[in-house]
Amino acid sequence: MSRLEEIREISGEVFFPTYNRYAAAMVRGESAYLYDTEGRRYLDFLSGIGVANLGHAHPEIAKMVCEQAKSLMHVSNLYFMPPQTELAHELVKHSSLDRVFFCNSGAEANEAAIKLARKYAQEVHGENRFEIITLEDSFHGRTLATVSATGQEKVKQGFAPLPEGFIHVPADDFDALEQAVSDRTCAIMLEPILGEGGVVVLSTPYLQKVRALCTERDIILILDEIQVGMGRSGRLFAHQWAGIEPDVMTLAKALGGGLPLGAMLAKEKYAPILSAGSHGSTFGGNPVACAAGLVVMKHVTDESFLANVIEMGDLIRARFKEMAGQFGFIEEVRGRGLIVGIKLSVPCKDIVAKAFERGLLINCTQETVLRMLPPLIISEKEVEEMFDILNNIFKEVA
Ligand SMILES: *Cc1c(COP(=O)(O)O)cnc(C)c1O
Repeated sequence: MSRLEEIREISGEVFFPTYNRYAAAMVRGESAYLYDTEGRRYLDFLSGIGVANLGHAHPEIAKMVCEQAKSLMHVSNLYFMPPQTELAHELVKHSSLDRVFFCNSGAEANEAAIKLARKYAQEVHGENRFEIITLEDSFHGRTLATVSATGQEKVKQGFAPLPEGFIHVPADDFDALEQAVSDRTCAIMLEPILGEGGVVVLSTPYLQKVRALCTERDIILILDEIQVGMGRSGRLFAHQWAGIEPDVMTLAKALGGGLPLGAMLAKEKYAPILSAGSHGSTFGGNPVACAAGLVVMKHVTDESFLANVIEMGDLIRARFKEMAGQFGFIEEVRGRGLIVGIKLSVPCKDIVAKAFERGLLINCTQETVLRMLPPLIISEKEVEEMFDILNNIFKEVA
């Protein structure tokens, strides 16, 4: 029995069947490549779902993590921790926001944002102001409140009763949003680019109108940048493309350079809302994760690093647009920077499976959208390698 077979057999017995996993057990990573137990190599155009933005086993991250782990791994938030303070300071310095709350995941960051919005609205506007508007096909996490916030029925099935007070409107439709706003609305929560929702880039006029509406009615604009923040879009935060500032922003995924780390950031105005004892986390802002986050911040705030993200993203989209002439099943090429979505007229499951067999990791959202989230450090060489593999697969399925 191979090591892989052994792992698959045991896993099948001990885990909840939550994940449909591919037949590979990964043991090592280097830059844009992963290696499994059988010595196979994979070109990773998913980065652990948008986590390994600097590539796998980044030497600087590994070094910082080792050093921090050797000196201190955990003390709780009863005490200060230098790497945590330094990372919060960096996030404030490079964003339009003033205050940071650290947690361990995206869902937790959104939970913190939801709690902040509810508490602010109730203290300032009264008890009836609790409703949060989100978008259809959005994704905000797997906890009960974030499942409620998520605009997809499939994640809600069987978990009733869910926390109340979330309504969903179609993406990029300002009239629909405006009509849904009422005296009960406390927040509008959106992903500037919907990731799980099929790589849908919200337009600049839409985002600007939403910003103005929120300001006018004192509604909190929460931007979920968990997937598209940290340089993914070619700007540090995706909303910067629209020239707007959120009231609250959530981060996770790439923030900890591969370690679990989430953050909720907000404007100074909201600082007193999360008063001492109103919210907290045992592990949130763990010093090892924050030490890794400091390395991530150093790179993703660098202009030449971001220029590569834009250049590679534009190159990939241009090539797919060219290919659309040859392959009729390519309907639309979407995304910004290195979040790429290729909307097909056919299901993309088989293409993703074939890519895996040939050592290319990509995935599929909304059944027909091929999604790519390569590490932000990729070069033309890796892009060419991806197209070599995918071109052959497209020829076969055409
Ligand atoms: C991944 C993701 C989340 C949830 O993050 P977890 O760390 O899995 O809890 C929330 N929002 C968006 C946009 C995401 O992509």
